[in-house]
Amino acid sequence: MSQIQNPSAIPSPASLDPYWMPFTSNRRFKQNPQLLVEADGMYYTRADGKRVLDGIAGLWCVNAGHRRREIVEAISCMAHQLDYAPSFQSGHPLAFEFAEQLVSEAPAGFSNVFFSNSGSEAVDTALKIALAYQRARGNASRVRLIGRARAYHGVGFGGLSVSGISSHRKAFGNLPPYTDHLPHTYNRAEMGFSRGQPTWGAHLADDLSNLVALHDASTVAAVIVEPVSGSTGVLVPPVDYLQRLRKICDEHGILLIFDEVITGFGRVGGAFSADFFGVVPDIITSAKGLTNGAVPMGATLVRSHVYDALMQGAPDAIELPHGYTYSGHPLACAAGLAALKIYRDEELFSRAQRMSPYWEDAAHSLKGLPYVVDIRNIGLLAAIELEPIPGQPGKRGYDCHMRCLEKGALIRATGDTMVFSPPLIIEKEEVDTLFSTLTDVLKNM
Ligand code: PMP
Repeated sequence: MSQIQNPSAIPSPASLDPYWMPFTSNRRFKQNPQLLVEADGMYYTRADGKRVLDGIAGLWCVNAGHRRREIVEAISCMAHQLDYAPSFQSGHPLAFEFAEQLVSEAPAGFSNVFFSNSGSEAVDTALKIALAYQRARGNASRVRLIGRARAYHGVGFGGLSVSGISSHRKAFGNLPPYTDHLPHTYNRAEMGFSRGQPTWGAHLADDLSNLVALHDASTVAAVIVEPVSGSTGVLVPPVDYLQRLRKICDEHGILLIFDEVITGFGRVGGAFSADFFGVVPDIITSAKGLTNGAVPMGATLVRSHVYDALMQGAPDAIELPHGYTYSGHPLACAAGLAALKIYRDEELFSRAQRMSPYWEDAAHSLKGLPYVVDIRNIGLLAAIELEPIPGQPGKRGYDCHMRCLEKGALIRATGDTMVFSPPLIIEKEEVDTLFSTLTDVLKNM
């Protein structure tokens, strides 16, 4: 196979300049670029030839491990056979097959899948479907979308409007109106160092009743939450919190959307964490592990009552004027089907659940180390929250990330919280390596 890039060729600083990197301090990164040039299983290889243990599955997405031969071959075969097929008024068999397979993995009652190209698009699609659903049922006044503080729902205008990360929102100033936010569920004093789901905090769901009373149910279309908020530091829902949200939504005719872009595909429970938490939402968004990160793809899954409500017009009408040039792209479907086959054949979701108690113990063994103010975990997710350096939020986390990288472990910093989300194929020794690397770094900071 031809080599695209010579791993030992470290680019000159000037040649790095044109690429405007996302969610990155471009100036800082380009002074000391850390380029990854190869990946295999649990490991990346850097441009300087050093191997790095991947503690975050790329960006919460490579759940079956890197460069899986079956996925590479599926993509390659598809590219040779059908490089592209339009998805409007046309289609190709794999998109239908993948949708059918996904529905079979979804909680009972889910019937249909809308494909997009990312988590952000899956979220915007979900919000638009929720609005269209309410209008189709004669509830045109239901235009309000409710998100949550400390939520991340991607970067589209829709997702950003319901997200709750102030720095992401403030940079743009002008976001779609008619949104509101529930408080987040994190309270360190009440739930610090909880293992798995905190027992305190179910009552926080009742804030939804207050918002509904404030705005009137007749104006509210949908509520969107990540079952576990990932990007803001693995905030685990209190026991019974999601159940209470579901109940309040049902009482008021409000749709409940679970953003499962991170929690899906074995990260927490099975293909979707909804079953794990025992709550059935109306709409689920997915991406990342959907294709094992190999080809960009998003998916929005809906229950039959949502789909059916939009299928009531004239039989030849376009039911949802929405879609992307690359919806259901053949290469993405090929990657997704191959990934799903690996997840099933290797029983990776149950493997992850079996590993999870060991993972939990390993994460919580860092309690008492310098700067550690909280530890959270669920499934194969964990967060070690560090005390910020006064006046320099994020610096301790970034320094820690860089030092771990130097020691051969990729652990992500979100602010001053170190987050872990490894490929589900991780072995116990690799779990130990990840947490002992961070332990060494913290002891020597
Ligand atoms: N929703 C959630 C919960 C996410 O974690 C992310 C990405 N981290 C997104 C949406 C956006 O996905 P993407 O970056 O693929 O647009």
